[in-house]
Amino acid sequence: MATRKQPIPGSRARDHVKRDAEVMSPSYTRSYPFVMDRGKGSLVWDVDGTQFIDFTAGIAVTATGHCHPEVVQAIKDQADKFVHMSGTDFYYSLQTELAEKITSLVPGKEPKQVFFTNSGTEAVEAAFKLARYSTGCSRMIAFIGAFHGRSMGALSLTASKYVHRAGFSPLVPGVTHVPYGYCYRCAYNLEYPSCDVYCVKYIEETLFRRLVSPEEVAAIFVEPIQGEGGYVVPPPLYHPRLFELSDKYDILLVDDEIQTGMGRTGKMFAIEHWGVVPEIVCIAKGIASGMPLGAMVAKKRQMTWPSGAHANTFGGNPISCAAALATIRLIEGGYMQNAARMGERFAERLKRMQPEHRSMGDVRGLGLMVGIELVKDRDTKEPAADLREAVVQKCFERGLLILGCGMSTARFMPALSITADLVDAGLDVFEEALTEAEREV
Ligand code: PLP
Repeated sequence: MATRKQPIPGSRARDHVKRDAEVMSPSYTRSYPFVMDRGKGSLVWDVDGTQFIDFTAGIAVTATGHCHPEVVQAIKDQADKFVHMSGTDFYYSLQTELAEKITSLVPGKEPKQVFFTNSGTEAVEAAFKLARYSTGCSRMIAFIGAFHGRSMGALSLTASKYVHRAGFSPLVPGVTHVPYGYCYRCAYNLEYPSCDVYCVKYIEETLFRRLVSPEEVAAIFVEPIQGEGGYVVPPPLYHPRLFELSDKYDILLVDDEIQTGMGRTGKMFAIEHWGVVPEIVCIAKGIASGMPLGAMVAKKRQMTWPSGAHANTFGGNPISCAAALATIRLIEGGYMQNAARMGERFAERLKRMQPEHRSMGDVRGLGLMVGIELVKDRDTKEPAADLREAVVQKCFERGLLILGCGMSTARFMPALSITADLVDAGLDVFEEALTEAEREV
């Protein structure tokens, strides 16, 4: 599928990268020089006219594919009417309509309310503040490997790479991190299910007895599947046990669905795979197919803060709301089922590849969150970070965009609309790239 007109990157992309380096913050994390010109569905073209298959969807954002005509039309129609009015100071129907839709989709029958933001980080920040406000408690629990964003509150919950935190101390105090349900690398060296989900028990048996009074804990922040931490899917009893614990001690369970949400895993919210109803849900990324939008959705009884306690200028921008309503229509209209089907297609092919490739330590995921943890040796499970980087590069050079996450995981998070042909074509490229990288690295 991928067509190559000239070496990748071409001369225009190379020139662009040089210009960019002069004026853009060096903190950005570009893995390879893909310079976008345009996109359609799960195909993208760079400034040299080279076509790539996109298994990244702009970091799990363009849920309906690039430039879906219905999303583009909704954006254009709204832009003709008005671009901005600030939903915190004025009313407009799109924002209310979207809040009605989102509250109907978020798990749980209790009434809920929405605070709109421009990003995932801001949704987490809002949840952090609301949890403190509504409980009167200051402490939080989060997980090793978690990524919740990079503003000071969200960063205090994040624990996926030290580079995110180094040099920024002191962070918001009162956050305790504990190991996640990462069975492939169990922090306690136990096996599921005989461990009886010790990673959750630890919170009650050790943390709450020795270090932190549960009465001081406002919330537990958790990703249903850890994203930046390595596409880690916890075992079946993990989330139900975490829910039981939070319920027992009256601690708010905050479900960060920023990467997992909006149909990506084959359900609207990933936590539904475990039948858990959180108190607060954070949403962003895929909700508006690429228009900036986030949402913090809480049970109405938690939204105790008064007028003025929290607000912003741009959150719930009308064009983003229009794009979100069109996106949700498309997700409900078939893309969520497609995500489940295509996720199985990825999993089947990767499981078939695994015996042939000793570096494929763990293949995991749900729907279109697909991760392959690469290791130097399947027995020692030593992470193969260099191999992962080589595979990511080689995929790019062959016309496939993928990204890494965790210590040595290659991840695929294409648009929910991706076709079987593109899944297969992209996986052909991945297999070729992996085979070559295994020989060289
Ligand atoms: N939470 C999770 C689970 C994420 O994956 C991310 C981004 O990758 C964030 C929060 C932060 O979202 P944003 O980058 O939109 O601020």
